[in-house]
Amino acid sequence: MARVTILDKTFETSYPESQIKDAVSKVAQAINNDLKGSDPLFLCVLNGAFMFAADLMKLVNIPSKISFVKFASYEGTQSTGVVKQLIGLNEDLTGRTVVIIEDIVDTGITIEGLVKQCKDKGAADVRVATMLFKPQNCKINFKPDYVAIEIPNDFIVGYGLDYDGYGRNIPEILTLVK
Ligand code: 5GP
Ligand code: MG
Repeated sequence: MARVTILDKTFETSYPESQIKDAVSKVAQAINNDLKGSDPLFLCVLNGAFMFAADLMKLVNIPSKISFVKFASYEGTQSTGVVKQLIGLNEDLTGRTVVIIEDIVDTGITIEGLVKQCKDKGAADVRVATMLFKPQNCKINFKPDYVAIEIPNDFIVGYGLDYDGYGRNIPEILTLVK
């Protein structure tokens, strides 16, 4: 896939499927090594992390559970800076190892809020596995435990990430052409 038009914007491939597959596999290996015997609960952050979570969880080979939450702060291509209410965290987290599965950590505001909510609910160990990390844009002192791909500060779509709802089904990662 070369250039793709979504609504009024043009995107081009930055990370093809083969590169994504290798990166996801490395994250799964690290989790399998680190969390053996800890019976983790994976928390997939909808909507964006659905594709990463599906591919990752097929490669996680330790006993574990998965659940889904929703927690959004984006509209269009700009962060609104306002973190909306979390939906769906009904599990008992007391004493648990929790691995949050995110599509992307950008400013870090979303993930900071979710990590705090998990700790407030009694989780013993809260880790973050993210498909993408924009270290240059991160506004909090935070480094995700597991990062598949570090990216520059550009707007991207595909592999679960959207532009106004479109593009989530694209199997590779595309960057906005400015
Ligand atoms: P943060 O709170 O870290 O600024 O933003 C996290 C959320 O914003 C992500 O889970 C994702 O939904 C959205 N987001 C951040 N950067 C991008 C981007 O480049 N493209 C898309 N489509 N969404 C993004
Ligand atoms: Mg997200």
